[in-house]
Amino acid sequence: MSNHDFDLLVIGAGSGGVRASRIAAGHGARVAVAEEFRVGGTCVIRGCVPKKLLVYGSHFAEDLVDARRFGWHIEGKRFDWPTLRDNVAAEVDRLNELYQNTLDNNDVTTLLGHARLLDAHTVDVAGTRHTADKILIASGARPYLPDVPGAEYGITSNEVFHLPELPGRVVIAGAGYIATEFAGVFHALGVDVTLINRSETILRGWEPALADRLLQISMAKGLNFKLNCRLERVEKISDGLRLHFADGKTMDTDVLMWALGRVPNVEDLGLEGVGVALNEKGAIAVDEDNCTNVQNIFAVGDVTDRVQLTPVAIREGHSFADRQFGSNPWRVDYNAIPSAVFSNPPLGSVGMTEAQARNAYGQVRVFTSDFRPMKSVLAGRTERALYKLVVDAATDRVVGAHMIGPDAPEILQAVAIAVKAGLTKAQFDDTMALHPTMSEELVLMR
Ligand code: NDP
Repeated sequence: MSNHDFDLLVIGAGSGGVRASRIAAGHGARVAVAEEFRVGGTCVIRGCVPKKLLVYGSHFAEDLVDARRFGWHIEGKRFDWPTLRDNVAAEVDRLNELYQNTLDNNDVTTLLGHARLLDAHTVDVAGTRHTADKILIASGARPYLPDVPGAEYGITSNEVFHLPELPGRVVIAGAGYIATEFAGVFHALGVDVTLINRSETILRGWEPALADRLLQISMAKGLNFKLNCRLERVEKISDGLRLHFADGKTMDTDVLMWALGRVPNVEDLGLEGVGVALNEKGAIAVDEDNCTNVQNIFAVGDVTDRVQLTPVAIREGHSFADRQFGSNPWRVDYNAIPSAVFSNPPLGSVGMTEAQARNAYGQVRVFTSDFRPMKSVLAGRTERALYKLVVDAATDRVVGAHMIGPDAPEILQAVAIAVKAGLTKAQFDDTMALHPTMSEELVLMR
């Protein structure tokens, strides 16, 4: 035990910070966590969790239409945004309380307020000084706002959950995770959606065949895309916003949402004064054990901008706590991290794309299944699911699995176990199909 107030002071009570606090406390450390907004962090408060609930809520739009083909006639259906918004907010409140309980039950002291390093062992939180032997920075990231005049008129994923009313028109800038997810939500809820992006692709980095499938399905549903475009200025007009593009064209909208990536929260933490180094991306530079260049200061999660995913931050926080306060040090394995986009339809992916595998292995074999799910057929929906397996030809190992279609993320999590375990295509094929399911396609690709 050190002479400091705490053995560990964590800055940021998000996914990584809470896990690190709880595990370190479990190892007997005296722990405090500083939080300036709400315990739970981006994922719980204004990210994954409320977003997924909106995705569920919006999906009823199609489900209720399809229900007719299954014999269900629902008269007078209507959607009420305040009900969904407020129920989601209430669930966020519940989870926020659970996270707080977790901290309290593990004897972690919560310090509410902005934290700033005064020296390598002293942190100011809302005007009070606290000292700690070790400091973990888990301050997360925030939406990136572009440097265009009028950018402040746009909202981000921080505000989208609290819209006073559902707008008639939304323009979403960006075509990554957040843009495609919210495009799906808004469109299903009856909003006129336009997605604008600087490049000609959506979901860059994803298996192109799947991204293209999402684009085609989305266009068929009636979403608008303006790709290869540069937004130069946002003007406030009497009934909304006017967007001015580099090609001289304009577009009017009620709401503009920025979804152009997230930047690490490194400002106003006192990092310069203590000498904590940033990397070329402006994130806190850490080694594989989450150590910064300052001996007793560490960082995990989005503030390090390695992989901006909640489960990764959680593992990093856990690994940090076990290494620094436990007796069983281990490192996070960043191979084969599954990922999903909760668009409509959703995507799931693990391992390498076909192009990445060709670069890595030379010879690859690719298997695809392009099908209409049984439920969609009866519902009269034309959209097709697409599954793709990428196999290293030399070893027969499945090195990538990519899916778009109903419940793709749920199915993908199980496939990720097989890919992570290095199973071969022959072992996939040797597994008996589970009929009738969509996922049986995974063992039927010849
Ligand atoms: P993404 O990185 O997914 O997408 C960013 C989009 O903005 C891309 O279309 C990109 O264009 C465009 N873009 C990036 N920088 C600029 C710029 N300077 N000017 C104009 N356009 C730009 O970011 P998101 O904000 O959607 O999400 C941030 C991160 O949060 C994700 O990367 C992911 O790690 C995480 N997240 C995960 C989710 C999940 O797991 N389901 C859900 C939501 C977020 P292009 O690529 O075409 O060049």
